[in-house]
Amino acid sequence: MWSVFTLNRPLVWTGIAAMASMSLLPTLMLRLAALVMVIIGGMDAWRQIRQESTRRQLTEAALMLSPDGVLISNARNRIEAVNPAFTQITGYSDEEIRGLDPSVLSSGRHDKAFYENYWQSLNATGQWEGEVWNQRKHGDEFPEWLRVRAITDDKGVVTHYVGLFTDITRHKAREQDLQRIGFEDPLTGLPNRRRLHDLLASRLQRLRAGEELDIVLIDIDGFKAVNDAMGVDQGDRLLSRFGQRLAAFVAGGVVGRLGGDEFMVIRTTTYDDHEQWVEGLRGHLSEPFEIGDKPLRLGLTIGSCRAPDDGRDSGVLFQRLESALYAAKRHGRNYSQRFRPSLEVDGDPQLELLNELRQALAHGTQLELFYQAQYYLDDGRLAGMEALLRWYHPTHGMISPGTFIPLAERHGLMASLGDLVIDRACAQLATWRQQGLSCVPVWINISAVQLIQGDLESRLSASLSKHNVPAAMLGLALTESVLLDERAGDISTRLVALRGKGHPIAIDDFGTGYSSMAYLKELPVDKLKLDRAFVRALPDDSADAAITSAVLAMARGLGLDVIAEGVETQAQRDYLHSEGCSMVQGFFYARPERVTDVEKRLKDDLDISLS
Ligand code: C2E
Ligand code: MG
Repeated sequence: MWSVFTLNRPLVWTGIAAMASMSLLPTLMLRLAALVMVIIGGMDAWRQIRQESTRRQLTEAALMLSPDGVLISNARNRIEAVNPAFTQITGYSDEEIRGLDPSVLSSGRHDKAFYENYWQSLNATGQWEGEVWNQRKHGDEFPEWLRVRAITDDKGVVTHYVGLFTDITRHKAREQDLQRIGFEDPLTGLPNRRRLHDLLASRLQRLRAGEELDIVLIDIDGFKAVNDAMGVDQGDRLLSRFGQRLAAFVAGGVVGRLGGDEFMVIRTTTYDDHEQWVEGLRGHLSEPFEIGDKPLRLGLTIGSCRAPDDGRDSGVLFQRLESALYAAKRHGRNYSQRFRPSLEVDGDPQLELLNELRQALAHGTQLELFYQAQYYLDDGRLAGMEALLRWYHPTHGMISPGTFIPLAERHGLMASLGDLVIDRACAQLATWRQQGLSCVPVWINISAVQLIQGDLESRLSASLSKHNVPAAMLGLALTESVLLDERAGDISTRLVALRGKGHPIAIDDFGTGYSSMAYLKELPVDKLKLDRAFVRALPDDSADAAITSAVLAMARGLGLDVIAEGVETQAQRDYLHSEGCSMVQGFFYARPERVTDVEKRLKDDLDISLS
């Protein structure tokens, strides 16, 4: 059934010819010689039949064992045979399906054009490969990866089609998980910042005559103290109860978490009662929360605005809400502030900070690069270092990059700040190389804005050649959101060029955005950085553990390295190691450190490799 048996060996044909001519031969000797040839031909034919039969048995055994479904149909496209995996995946037994058209499996999800294209390609090239949604015998649909080949006879006429398919339901579910994670806050299950932007934009678009939007940004007063006093688990529980209570209050509205202890609420309304509504919300949330063994009453700082009065664009409204929230915070705790235009100009602490950042950039002295070591899990060797920017403010002390980088991005300073990082990292690499120290790459973070506004490529090459450092020593970490940002142009081509120059490329915060498998496969990427958010609750949190192993499996499939961020405990390290993660970064190993401290690590690593 699996192969066509043909007598294609010369000895067999010679034997047949000898048999046919035997009676015509004049002498006994010649007849005896012909008989010998008949016997030799017969033995060769027998050997061939045995070989064919063994080959057929082996092929059949392989197909029986194959986890992929196999389907063979004839030239009229009627099914002739299937293997056990086919039955397991589709629910149809060999007897049930034999003689039927493979279209009995069709789910109806694909249109006529899809099948036309399928047949066209199969007829023209003799093969087809792609994703197909089919239907099992009991009706549920499933995605499969299908490869089909047309089998032809000696004259090139199609005799059979052989289809091989893999059920990719689980792999799709992982993809969907990752997609969901891109839009959902994992702790509360509420929409995250990115999703809130979309929801606000769509509510604005669908506003009808007489309708307005009330929007609030709520910050829980002293949440850090709750976390410190009661532990992070209780803190998480409080945040999730808080989210639930908010959602119950604004049925029909939108409730989301922007991160940390910041929540956002949007409602569409025809009432002109903004202030009362905000106070109603505060009242509802002021009822005590039962966390731990005593009731906890929360103070709330609220910034609010109303659309379209305060703006029609979701980006502008977000900024205005933040200005209102800052104004409320400056006023003191447990206070609500509605946006008004003067807030944006007078005494906005953000604007003050921005001016100071401008000066810091001009002088350069308050800005410093710290380095955080990254290690291989297998042998504990140094794998690389991440350069992280620090700003020492003369009066506020150290300001987190989580605060000043977004500020620089919003107000056009990021390209210069990015240039400063590139130049400092290259200069540092050059010094270490002169001292015979560094042989691990330094990774710098690249902001979306650098790709969109700045001339990143030329800044990189200028700095590398100024300091005489090879591009392979300077890794570039880009967040998933950057990869999906259309404003960065054809990112894939740009990355190919950067990698072509020698830069290693990593995707930062992996798992927090949504990169489809198909897209990722196309990108020239060396490494994924698994986001801290998933590592934090390992190994006990089963959802995070599942995501971690899904990411690791996916990366393995794509031939990518994974580095886990935010490893703080031995248990996290052990779990990641057992799941096949190759590299780690986190406080368990090293905090971001000054150059002098990092140099000690570089020396130690050099000693290990020399010994
Ligand atoms: P990131 O790229 O995800 O950097 C890792 C952050 O995680 C760093 O925070 C680091 O200090 C912190 N971290 C590392 N290990 C642990 C751990 O075990 N536990 C915890 N809780 N945290 C850990 P940092 O330095 O505050 O930087 C925050 C973010 O600011 C960075 O996130 C990056 O997105 C941005 N950033 C920092 N420097 C630069 C820069 O030079 N350029 C750009 N574009 N962004 C930067
Ligand atoms: Mg990073």
